Amino acid sequence: MTIYQNLIAGEWTGADAVENINPSDTKEVVGLYASGSATDTNNAIAAAKAAFPAWSRSGIWERHVILKKAGDEIMARKDELGALLAREEGKTLPEAIGETIRASQIFEFFAGEALRLAGEVVPSVRPNIGVEITREPLGVIGIITPWNFPIAIPAWKIAPALCYGNTIVFKPAELVPGCSWAIVDILNRAGLPKGVLNLVMGKGSIVGQTMLDSPDLAGITFTGSVGTGKRVALSSIEHNRKIQLEMGGKNPMVILDDADLSVAVEAAANSAFFSTGQRCTASSRLIVTEGIHDRFVQAMTEKLKTLNVDHALKTGTHIGPVVDERQLKTDTDYIEIGKKEGAKLAFGGELISRDTPGFYLQPTLFTEATNQMRISREEIFGPVASVIRVKDYEEALSVANDTPFGLSSGIATTSLKHATHFKRNAEAGMVMVNLPTAGVDFHVPFGGRKASSYGSREQGKYAAEFFTTVKTAYTLA
Ligand code: NAD
Repeated sequence: MTIYQNLIAGEWTGADAVENINPSDTKEVVGLYASGSATDTNNAIAAAKAAFPAWSRSGIWERHVILKKAGDEIMARKDELGALLAREEGKTLPEAIGETIRASQIFEFFAGEALRLAGEVVPSVRPNIGVEITREPLGVIGIITPWNFPIAIPAWKIAPALCYGNTIVFKPAELVPGCSWAIVDILNRAGLPKGVLNLVMGKGSIVGQTMLDSPDLAGITFTGSVGTGKRVALSSIEHNRKIQLEMGGKNPMVILDDADLSVAVEAAANSAFFSTGQRCTASSRLIVTEGIHDRFVQAMTEKLKTLNVDHALKTGTHIGPVVDERQLKTDTDYIEIGKKEGAKLAFGGELISRDTPGFYLQPTLFTEATNQMRISREEIFGPVASVIRVKDYEEALSVANDTPFGLSSGIATTSLKHATHFKRNAEAGMVMVNLPTAGVDFHVPFGGRKASSYGSREQGKYAAEFFTTVKTAYTLA
């Protein structure tokens, strides 16, 4: 079998490889992917450092052309790359193709942004002096990504890093190297000079940790768990390094008495269970006021009966498998914790077998949960959600905000007053009204508050905050 290698200083390299396994069918090896060493990582950092002076001064048209070419190729290959994504991560084929299209759109967006780079010229408060404010690239950026969005998250970090003139050392999650390899291959063929984008696949404890320990990374943009995010933060203080961290969530979805029941059920089912609940923006706390509670639970249970859990590539599958055995164990452990804590298992909770051996778990809904239970406070990151009954809107808002996290927050209501109040008072980076808590646009800021995020926002023109540093120049006229 071919080994998909690391790209270091423009050369494909690496003989040590690990199997990329399909969670829908554990007998299928998606591919063999290189697993880099500390030396590979340091070589990649040195290559990115050497490539920085030229790339940081490259013309905006060159950057535009490369990013546009990459976006066009990803779109042209959306079905093939979507199938690769579904095979390595387990989300359904339509979800995977949707994510691939989004990756393409992100490259197209930043291809445009490269042509819109601008600064400011302002008068000085002193006579005969001019002031210019410009944005300059940061330097070598370390990109560390999680497994749950194998193409979109790498795209939304790589595209702005290149657009603003940075060079990159990119370390994708071990479980999903395939899509990352594909986009690096696409960008490499699109004409990036050697060393501008380096790919080092491999273990977090080796490749990731070597990146954290390096004094030569000017910034690290990280998406993943709170625990790893803290390590990135602590190591970065030592190196005076800029960081952008996107981490966990425990996102609430409030359902008020006046909600349109079918809108509420569609939004809640999508938020909690689509992409197997493995989205940082998934909602796992369904906070429901008492007037609609029983009707909502009844309708949700009916809805859950209609969702097929099966092989990600099979037509008609609504929910794919859990990503791997370890995550499956976390999910089933939390289901046991929920039962012991006194929540009522209203639907699911069981492992299921299908034609192929995979990590299949029923969508699981608890009722009679409280916001103090561990299943309501800790991120599970699987197809497990709880219904928390509350008296009224005021209690719902207070429970929604009573969490260490603050990524996304949703409400289902027909009341303009409550929708408006919720948008202003939800303690989250993103608020959704009558929409799932997950599912966002690619051209506007993405990110959260509290333990969910640290540093400036990702995506859209706000991405410039992280990927550039500002210079103020004064000239005597
Ligand atoms: P993780 O923290 O285990 O791993 C993330 C990345 O960090 C991987 O590439 C991993 O190899 C690397 N890593 C691990 N140890 C490291 C170390 N010592 N030094 C440097 N790098 C290291 O997270 P995961 O399980 O891949 O992803 C799931 C988590 O990601 C969930 O908590 C989820 O909420 C979060 N997530 C957040 C967002 C967001 O935007 N807020 C988006 C997607 C996922």
